[in-house]
Amino acid sequence: MKCIAWLALAAALASADARRPVIAIGGINHESNTFNPRKTRLADFTPRNIAREEFLRETAKSNSTVSGFIAGARESGFDVHPLFDTEAPPLGPVTRDAFDTLTRELIAGLKAAPKLDGLLLYLMGAMVTEDYPVADAEVVRRVRAAMGDRFPIVVVHDYHANVSEEIVQLTTALLTYKECPHLDSKQRGVQAARIIAGIVSGKWKPAQALVKPPMMYNLVFQNTFRPPFGPVTEESRRLEKNPKILAASVPGGYQYGDVPTMGPSVVVVTDNDPGLAKREAQRLSDMLWATRDKLVLNLPDPAKAVAQAMAGGKFPVALFDTGDNIGGGSSGDSTFILAELLRQKASGWFVPFTEPEAAAAAFRAGVGQPFDQLVGGKADKLHGAPVRVRGRVRSLHLGTYFETEVRHAGRRYFDMGLTAIIEAEGSAPDLPNLVMLTTKPAIPLSIHQLTSCGIYPERLKILVVKGTIAPRPAYEPVAALIIEVDSPGVTAVNPKRFVYKNVRRPMFGL
Ligand SMILES: [Zn+2]
Repeated sequence: MKCIAWLALAAALASADARRPVIAIGGINHESNTFNPRKTRLADFTPRNIAREEFLRETAKSNSTVSGFIAGARESGFDVHPLFDTEAPPLGPVTRDAFDTLTRELIAGLKAAPKLDGLLLYLMGAMVTEDYPVADAEVVRRVRAAMGDRFPIVVVHDYHANVSEEIVQLTTALLTYKECPHLDSKQRGVQAARIIAGIVSGKWKPAQALVKPPMMYNLVFQNTFRPPFGPVTEESRRLEKNPKILAASVPGGYQYGDVPTMGPSVVVVTDNDPGLAKREAQRLSDMLWATRDKLVLNLPDPAKAVAQAMAGGKFPVALFDTGDNIGGGSSGDSTFILAELLRQKASGWFVPFTEPEAAAAAFRAGVGQPFDQLVGGKADKLHGAPVRVRGRVRSLHLGTYFETEVRHAGRRYFDMGLTAIIEAEGSAPDLPNLVMLTTKPAIPLSIHQLTSCGIYPERLKILVVKGTIAPRPAYEPVAALIIEVDSPGVTAVNPKRFVYKNVRRPMFGL
């Protein structure tokens, strides 16, 4: 009997020794457009009280960064302790109340967990709050204060991060998406999981460095799959083949954050080699700086863009309404391009609007009924005057859809709220003019936004898309041509349309 008890005790001790590390995973994701007067409130953030099993099951199905943490844990042999992964639309700065609540919930989750060996955290990297211009760093500062200086914290930022020196100091390792459009959200989660596994096992001791060239990298030039940015991204991939380099990130920055950290960055994480980190970060930063003569903005305004689209022989043409980039923090109700389509009597077009009021009017009217409403231009004074849309209600929808392909940021489920499709005047039976009215902002990341409402993009001539780079993976397969339009708005790509007060000076591109 005694012998068996000893064996049992020995086995228990052995399994305690071989205890798998437990890493907390979570995310707070907000890209704050400081030019947007509408503050981001707690209610704008997605729910956080999701049961742990459901969180793991549903997140694992997506292609998000946190899904990469889960996949990476499996690969690297540790267990995950899920906290939450919340995001809000990229409106204006986050309120004090929302920020304090989210960080408090995050830390409470960490404190309530059984023994943790580290944290994998997804932070967008361009969050601004009422109190903090670099709020992501403040999240990590609070987590550090709660969990101690030796607690491993590996953070993944979006490509649009305005990386701060403070967060580089506070994190054990920091990496960002490489790709814009963001097709590598999940891969970066997996990479972060590998890095934290190496830290926890004692194999790696990260030393990282940040260098920021004194420039703004306009959103229009942030396509990492082609020059001028592409070769720098490629060089960061090549660097990671060096076993001493754990991660090399070149985020392009987020130009709608008027904060001192605005602009592109290079972050290099090495295994215990600060000199190498600094040297390579400087070298990649010099590469970015050397591309500046390629960064000349020359895009058509809405009138020219519509004329160009109509004159082109191949359809559909996608007009990217860069001034009303919903993913960049705009209202989604700009009317500049719709007004031009009507003025130039274009036909076979599709224009979406975030328009709860007009959507409700269409629902009250019902399918097949006449529709005559002022649409758009209501959220603020930056996106044109409301435009009168006359026609009939073509169809009504719940507004949910889902995406199985890898698209920007790797999301799976989408919800644009109750949605109405209006067939506007001038429609022909086989070539309708369609206005989509959504209740909630719908970032155009998936072509199912259209097909789920019975709209076949390949049968239309002009598709208006409220974005700049992020919609490309969804629209490149269906559009014969993409035209980026220099339209006004809170996300205008032309920096002359804004007054910057808080960025570093001098700054190339402003
Ligand atoms: Zn982004």
